[in-house]
Amino acid sequence: MKLTRSFTRFYTTCNFINHKSPIPKTPIAFAFDIDGVLLHSKTPIPKAIETLKYLKTNKIPFILLTNGGGYTEKIRLDSLNNLLSNTNIEIDQLVQSHTPMKYLTNKFNNVLVIGGIDPFTRDAAINYGFKKVLRPIDFVKENPNIWPFVKYSKEEIDKYSISFNINEPIDAIMVFNDPRDMGTDLQIILDLLCSKNGLIGTKRDYISNKPSIPIIFSNNDLLWSANYKIPRFGQGAFRIAIRELYKELNNGNELNDTVYGKPQIESYAFADKVLIDYWRKLNNLKSIGSELTFLQSYSNEYFDNVVMVGDNPKSDIAGGNNFGWETALVKTGVYKDGDFEIDRNLAKPTLGVFNDVYDAVMQSIEKVRK
Ligand SMILES: [Mg+2]
Repeated sequence: MKLTRSFTRFYTTCNFINHKSPIPKTPIAFAFDIDGVLLHSKTPIPKAIETLKYLKTNKIPFILLTNGGGYTEKIRLDSLNNLLSNTNIEIDQLVQSHTPMKYLTNKFNNVLVIGGIDPFTRDAAINYGFKKVLRPIDFVKENPNIWPFVKYSKEEIDKYSISFNINEPIDAIMVFNDPRDMGTDLQIILDLLCSKNGLIGTKRDYISNKPSIPIIFSNNDLLWSANYKIPRFGQGAFRIAIRELYKELNNGNELNDTVYGKPQIESYAFADKVLIDYWRKLNNLKSIGSELTFLQSYSNEYFDNVVMVGDNPKSDIAGGNNFGWETALVKTGVYKDGDFEIDRNLAKPTLGVFNDVYDAVMQSIEKVRK
């Protein structure tokens, strides 16, 4: 198994957990990407519902691992179950890009949460247990001159902003989803990264590659497939803008930041435990918890094979391969026939390329039986 044993700076506790499974291993388990595998925006991909129902009926464990977010897990789940005709996906089967951030509540109290839509994204962070969750709109309310070209209407400010004490420092910035007002967000983020200890409206008197407060991105997708004919900029593009501006303001120093989401190992290590816990629940065993400590796989104690099914070689497949899972690529999303010839560096799936999620699952099960 090709695992990079590394630690994030936020996870330094060394509590060893006994991950040994008390009952015989299950032959196969799945992790599915959502967009391009199960859904196209709000439309189910043919046979996706049938596939999930088959897995449920046959008690084959699976989770959903998406780089999407901006909503509480409960809201996203209700929408998924509605779109996927009541396949009864459970809340502990869903990992959004920012789900692992729920374990940062003991590190940070006051956080600025970027991206997504008000009030949903603030609610998602509050739901994780952060004591004070601020949004750019709160800074705009406090002083509209913070970004002279701000887009919020008075109604939006009245409806969605909260008051806060500007003399209380912000502890961290978390980008939960793509920004909806990039100008305002960029300005406030850069202000804080170069502030005196996270105090808005202040400016530190030194340059460094270490920002004044940490910034964590929930994914690094440069592009995503939206309803326009060519892909649109995602959070990864926003990250490039932040990094370039930071470098410019800090005499060429590269920003020291943190990234979650596929293909990052943090995302897979977290998903690995969520999958184990879901399997344990199916078998009436106690939860092991999904807090990240060591960034490694424990699922080989429980399953002979874990298969990541995705449509994007650069995220789903690259991350799955690197983590030591099996990988299956589907043709219903980002990947198109001929892509491997165009870009020879694209990560190749270990189990093959399949027409759709149904073929990927059925043929993976067949391969495992042999
Ligand atoms: Mg996808």
